Amino acid sequence: MIPKVDPGLCIGCGNCELLCPRVFTVHNDGISYVIKDSDCEEEGCCEEAAEECPAGAIKLTDERPSQ
Ligand code: SF4
Repeated sequence: MIPKVDPGLCIGCGNCELLCPRVFTVHNDGISYVIKDSDCEEEGCCEEAAEECPAGAIKLTDERPSQ
């Protein structure tokens, strides 16, 4: 699964970074970003991060970004 954060919804609460620090990182702009080349297959915490996101900003998809 590939995680995506909708920057228009993210409120920068940091839950995802706390639950899944190898996948999500909150930048100084107050928005969470998916760390490059991180993968939810290895990091099983992505589902939990998506469920616990208070803004519903995390989506998990099967799409790989085009190279
Ligand atoms: S849990 Fe959701 S709202 Fe909070 S920082 Fe992560 S993506 Fe943003």
